[in-house]
Amino acid sequence: MKNLIILITAAVILFSGCSAADAAQEKIGSQDISQTNILSQTTAQENITETKADINGEEAATLLYMGQASVRIVTAENNVIYIDPYAGDQYDLPADLILVTHAHFDHNQISKVEKRNPDCIIITQDEALANGEHQVFNLGYVTVEAVEAGYNDWHDITDSVGYVLTFSSNGMSVYVTGDTSATEQMPLLAEKEIDYAFFCCDGVFNMGLEEAAWCAEQVRAKHNIPYHMTTNTENNGFDRSIAERFEVENLLIIEDGEEIKIE
Ligand SMILES: [Zn+2]
Repeated sequence: MKNLIILITAAVILFSGCSAADAAQEKIGSQDISQTNILSQTTAQENITETKADINGEEAATLLYMGQASVRIVTAENNVIYIDPYAGDQYDLPADLILVTHAHFDHNQISKVEKRNPDCIIITQDEALANGEHQVFNLGYVTVEAVEAGYNDWHDITDSVGYVLTFSSNGMSVYVTGDTSATEQMPLLAEKEIDYAFFCCDGVFNMGLEEAAWCAEQVRAKHNIPYHMTTNTENNGFDRSIAERFEVENLLIIEDGEEIKIE
Protein backbone atom coordinates (compact mmCIF):
# COMPACT_ATOMS: atom_id res chain seq x y z
CA MET A 1 0.00 0.00 0.00
CA LYS A 2 2.83 2.36 0.93
CA ASN A 3 4.41 1.70 -2.47
CA LEU A 4 1.14 2.49 -4.14
CA ILE A 5 0.85 5.86 -2.42
CA ILE A 6 4.42 6.68 -3.43
CA LEU A 7 3.63 5.61 -6.98
CA ILE A 8 0.52 7.78 -7.16
CA THR A 9 2.31 10.77 -5.66
CA ALA A 10 5.17 10.36 -8.13
CA ALA A 11 2.73 10.10 -11.02
CA VAL A 12 0.85 13.22 -9.92
CA ILE A 13 4.08 15.21 -9.44
CA LEU A 14 5.56 14.12 -12.76
CA PHE A 15 2.54 14.51 -14.96
CA SER A 16 0.22 16.72 -12.85
CA GLY A 17 -2.48 16.15 -15.45
CA CYS A 18 -5.84 14.49 -15.36
CA SER A 19 -4.77 11.65 -17.61
CA ALA A 20 -1.84 10.72 -15.40
CA ALA A 21 -4.04 10.87 -12.33
CA ASP A 22 -6.60 8.76 -14.17
CA ALA A 23 -3.89 6.30 -15.05
CA ALA A 24 -2.85 6.16 -11.42
CA GLN A 25 -6.48 5.77 -10.41
CA GLU A 26 -6.86 2.95 -12.90
CA LYS A 27 -3.86 1.33 -11.35
CA ILE A 28 -5.45 1.65 -7.92
CA GLY A 29 -8.65 0.36 -9.46
CA SER A 30 -7.02 -2.77 -10.83
CA GLN A 31 -5.18 -3.27 -7.55
CA ASP A 32 -8.51 -3.07 -5.76
CA ILE A 33 -10.03 -5.61 -8.10
CA SER A 34 -7.21 -8.08 -7.57
CA GLN A 35 -7.45 -7.49 -3.82
CA THR A 36 -11.14 -8.27 -4.06
CA ASN A 37 -10.34 -11.40 -6.06
CA ILE A 38 -7.94 -12.58 -3.41
CA LEU A 39 -10.54 -11.90 -0.76
CA SER A 40 -13.29 -13.70 -2.62
CA GLN A 41 -10.94 -16.63 -3.27
CA THR A 42 -10.18 -16.80 0.43
CA THR A 43 -13.88 -16.72 1.23
CA ALA A 44 -14.53 -19.46 -1.31
CA GLN A 45 -11.75 -21.57 0.21
CA GLU A 46 -13.18 -21.07 3.67
CA ASN A 47 -16.55 -22.16 2.39
CA ILE A 48 -15.04 -25.34 0.94
CA THR A 49 -13.42 -26.09 4.28
CA GLU A 50 -16.70 -25.43 6.03
CA THR A 51 -18.74 -27.65 3.75
CA LYS A 52 -16.30 -30.56 4.25
CA ALA A 53 -17.93 -32.55 7.03
CA ASP A 54 -16.28 -32.02 10.38
CA ILE A 55 -15.56 -35.70 10.85
CA ASN A 56 -12.40 -35.11 12.81
CA GLY A 57 -13.63 -32.59 15.37
CA GLU A 58 -10.05 -32.12 16.56
CA GLU A 59 -7.36 -29.57 15.86
CA ALA A 60 -4.85 -32.38 15.41
CA ALA A 61 -4.97 -35.32 13.03
CA THR A 62 -6.38 -38.55 14.42
CA LEU A 63 -4.88 -41.91 13.51
CA LEU A 64 -6.74 -45.22 13.58
CA TYR A 65 -4.68 -48.41 13.44
CA MET A 66 -6.77 -51.16 11.86
CA GLY A 67 -4.32 -54.08 12.04
CA GLN A 68 -1.52 -55.45 9.82
CA ALA A 69 -0.18 -52.29 8.08
CA SER A 70 -3.57 -50.62 7.65
CA VAL A 71 -3.86 -47.09 9.00
CA ARG A 72 -6.54 -44.44 8.61
CA ILE A 73 -5.73 -40.81 9.31
CA VAL A 74 -8.21 -37.93 9.46
CA THR A 75 -6.37 -34.61 9.32
CA ALA A 76 -7.34 -31.47 11.21
CA GLU A 77 -8.83 -30.25 7.91
CA ASN A 78 -10.96 -33.41 7.66
CA ASN A 79 -8.97 -34.95 4.84
CA VAL A 80 -9.08 -38.74 5.01
CA ILE A 81 -5.96 -40.78 4.30
CA TYR A 82 -5.83 -44.59 4.09
CA ILE A 83 -2.45 -46.32 4.21
CA ASP A 84 -2.07 -49.93 3.02
CA PRO A 85 -5.79 -50.78 3.01
CA TYR A 86 -6.37 -54.43 3.94
CA ALA A 87 -7.16 -55.06 7.62
CA GLY A 88 -10.16 -53.75 9.53
CA ASP A 89 -13.51 -52.59 8.26
CA GLN A 90 -13.55 -48.87 9.03
CA TYR A 91 -13.30 -47.71 5.43
CA ASP A 92 -16.57 -45.79 5.57
CA LEU A 93 -15.09 -42.27 5.47
CA PRO A 94 -14.61 -40.99 1.89
CA ALA A 95 -10.93 -41.04 0.96
CA ASP A 96 -8.91 -38.03 -0.16
CA LEU A 97 -5.66 -39.95 -0.33
CA ILE A 98 -4.77 -43.64 -0.51
CA LEU A 99 -1.16 -44.67 0.04
CA VAL A 100 0.14 -48.14 -0.80
CA THR A 101 3.67 -49.23 0.12
CA HIS A 102 3.96 -52.25 -2.18
CA ALA A 103 1.96 -54.71 -4.24
CA HIS A 104 1.43 -57.56 -1.73
CA PHE A 105 -2.20 -58.47 -0.97
CA ASP A 106 -1.97 -57.47 2.70
CA HIS A 107 -1.16 -53.88 1.69
CA ASN A 108 -2.89 -53.01 -1.56
CA GLN A 109 -6.62 -53.71 -1.22
CA ILE A 110 -7.53 -50.34 -2.71
CA SER A 111 -10.96 -51.69 -3.65
CA LYS A 112 -11.80 -51.85 0.08
CA VAL A 113 -11.91 -48.05 -0.04
CA GLU A 114 -15.18 -47.82 -1.92
CA LYS A 115 -16.00 -44.29 -0.85
CA ARG A 116 -13.69 -41.71 -2.35
CA ASN A 117 -13.95 -37.96 -2.82
CA PRO A 118 -13.92 -36.89 -6.49
CA ASP A 119 -10.35 -35.60 -6.28
CA CYS A 120 -9.05 -38.64 -4.36
CA ILE A 121 -5.37 -39.27 -5.05
CA ILE A 122 -3.89 -42.76 -5.08
CA ILE A 123 -0.16 -43.13 -4.61
CA THR A 124 1.28 -46.62 -4.88
CA GLN A 125 4.87 -47.76 -5.04
CA ASP A 126 4.77 -47.01 -8.78
CA GLU A 127 4.10 -43.28 -8.33
CA ALA A 128 6.26 -43.13 -5.21
CA LEU A 129 9.20 -44.53 -7.18
CA ALA A 130 8.60 -42.70 -10.47
CA ASN A 131 11.79 -42.58 -12.55
CA GLY A 132 13.38 -44.85 -9.98
CA GLU A 133 13.55 -41.99 -7.48
CA HIS A 134 11.74 -41.60 -4.20
CA GLN A 135 9.18 -38.84 -4.75
CA VAL A 136 7.77 -36.12 -2.50
CA PHE A 137 4.09 -35.15 -2.86
CA ASN A 138 2.93 -31.85 -1.43
CA LEU A 139 -0.86 -31.99 -1.17
CA GLY A 140 -1.37 -28.85 0.89
CA TYR A 141 -2.80 -30.45 4.03
CA VAL A 142 -0.03 -33.06 4.07
CA THR A 143 3.38 -33.65 2.54
CA VAL A 144 4.09 -37.28 1.71
CA GLU A 145 7.68 -38.32 1.24
CA ALA A 146 8.45 -41.78 -0.08
CA VAL A 147 11.41 -43.40 1.64
CA GLU A 148 13.37 -46.61 1.22
CA ALA A 149 11.90 -50.03 2.03
CA GLY A 150 12.94 -53.53 1.03
CA TYR A 151 16.38 -55.00 1.70
CA ASN A 152 15.11 -58.57 2.16
CA ASP A 153 14.24 -61.65 0.09
CA TRP A 154 10.53 -60.78 -0.07
CA HIS A 155 10.74 -57.05 -0.64
CA ASP A 156 13.00 -55.21 -3.04
CA ILE A 157 14.01 -51.58 -2.84
CA THR A 158 12.86 -51.10 -6.45
CA ASP A 159 9.22 -51.99 -5.73
CA SER A 160 8.65 -51.17 -2.06
CA VAL A 161 8.50 -47.89 -0.17
CA GLY A 162 7.80 -46.46 3.24
CA TYR A 163 6.21 -43.04 3.73
CA VAL A 164 6.80 -40.03 5.96
CA LEU A 165 3.70 -37.87 6.25
CA THR A 166 4.00 -34.34 7.64
CA PHE A 167 0.78 -32.52 8.46
CA SER A 168 0.46 -28.83 7.64
CA SER A 169 -1.85 -28.11 10.57
CA ASN A 170 0.74 -28.71 13.30
CA GLY A 171 3.93 -29.92 11.58
CA MET A 172 3.67 -33.36 13.21
CA SER A 173 4.92 -36.35 11.27
CA VAL A 174 4.14 -40.05 10.93
CA TYR A 175 6.47 -42.65 9.41
CA VAL A 176 5.32 -46.06 8.23
CA THR A 177 8.11 -48.46 7.27
CA GLY A 178 5.95 -50.63 5.04
CA ASP A 179 7.42 -54.12 4.70
CA THR A 180 11.16 -53.98 5.06
CA SER A 181 14.33 -54.88 6.84
CA ALA A 182 16.79 -52.19 7.95
CA THR A 183 17.40 -49.69 5.16
CA GLU A 184 20.45 -47.59 4.43
CA GLN A 185 18.29 -44.47 4.65
CA MET A 186 16.96 -45.04 8.19
CA PRO A 187 19.85 -43.31 10.05
CA LEU A 188 19.25 -40.25 7.83
CA LEU A 189 15.60 -40.09 8.87
CA ALA A 190 16.67 -38.99 12.37
CA GLU A 191 17.12 -35.44 11.12
CA LYS A 192 13.41 -35.30 10.27
CA GLU A 193 12.61 -35.55 14.00
CA ILE A 194 9.69 -37.85 13.30
CA ASP A 195 6.91 -37.85 15.88
CA TYR A 196 5.29 -41.27 15.34
CA ALA A 197 7.06 -44.20 13.65
CA PHE A 198 5.52 -47.57 12.81
CA PHE A 199 7.97 -50.49 12.44
CA CYS A 200 7.07 -53.84 10.90
CA CYS A 201 8.55 -56.70 12.93
CA ASP A 202 7.09 -60.08 11.94
CA GLY A 203 10.52 -61.69 11.62
CA VAL A 204 9.50 -63.96 8.75
CA PHE A 205 8.87 -61.82 5.70
CA ASN A 206 10.52 -58.80 7.29
CA MET A 207 12.85 -57.78 10.07
CA GLY A 208 12.09 -59.18 13.51
CA LEU A 209 11.78 -57.37 16.83
CA GLU A 210 15.51 -57.04 17.40
CA GLU A 211 16.32 -55.54 14.01
CA ALA A 212 13.24 -53.31 14.21
CA ALA A 213 14.48 -52.03 17.59
CA TRP A 214 17.84 -51.22 16.00
CA CYS A 215 15.99 -49.32 13.26
CA ALA A 216 13.98 -47.39 15.84
CA GLU A 217 17.24 -46.44 17.52
CA GLN A 218 18.49 -45.04 14.20
CA VAL A 219 15.31 -43.15 13.30
CA ARG A 220 14.95 -41.68 16.81
CA ALA A 221 11.22 -40.94 16.56
CA LYS A 222 9.35 -39.60 19.58
CA HIS A 223 7.01 -42.62 19.59
CA ASN A 224 7.95 -46.09 18.36
CA ILE A 225 5.02 -48.29 17.40
CA PRO A 226 5.26 -51.96 16.40
CA TYR A 227 2.92 -53.10 13.60
CA HIS A 228 2.68 -55.92 11.05
CA MET A 229 4.06 -58.15 13.82
CA THR A 230 2.76 -61.61 12.97
CA THR A 231 2.23 -63.71 9.87
CA ASN A 232 -1.07 -64.91 11.26
CA THR A 233 -3.68 -63.02 9.26
CA GLU A 234 -6.44 -64.16 11.63
CA ASN A 235 -5.25 -61.92 14.45
CA ASN A 236 -5.08 -58.83 12.25
CA GLY A 237 -1.29 -58.72 12.40
CA PHE A 238 -1.42 -57.63 16.02
CA ASP A 239 -0.32 -59.58 19.09
CA ARG A 240 0.11 -57.70 22.35
CA SER A 241 2.64 -60.18 23.75
CA ILE A 242 4.86 -59.52 20.71
CA ALA A 243 4.29 -55.76 20.89
CA GLU A 244 5.44 -55.76 24.51
CA ARG A 245 8.71 -57.43 23.54
CA PHE A 246 9.63 -54.50 21.23
CA GLU A 247 12.53 -53.20 23.28
CA VAL A 248 12.74 -49.54 22.36
CA GLU A 249 12.67 -46.22 24.10
CA ASN A 250 9.37 -44.40 23.77
CA LEU A 251 7.42 -47.57 23.00
CA LEU A 252 3.82 -46.89 22.07
CA ILE A 253 1.54 -49.88 21.62
CA ILE A 254 -1.53 -49.15 19.54
CA GLU A 255 -3.93 -52.06 19.39
CA ASP A 256 -5.84 -52.84 16.24
CA GLY A 257 -8.97 -50.75 16.27
CA GLU A 258 -7.41 -48.13 18.56
CA GLU A 259 -7.35 -44.45 17.60
CA ILE A 260 -4.81 -41.85 18.77
CA LYS A 261 -4.37 -38.11 18.31
CA ILE A 262 -1.29 -36.95 16.41
CA GLU A 263 -0.15 -34.21 18.77
ZN1 LIG B 1 2.97 -57.37 4.52
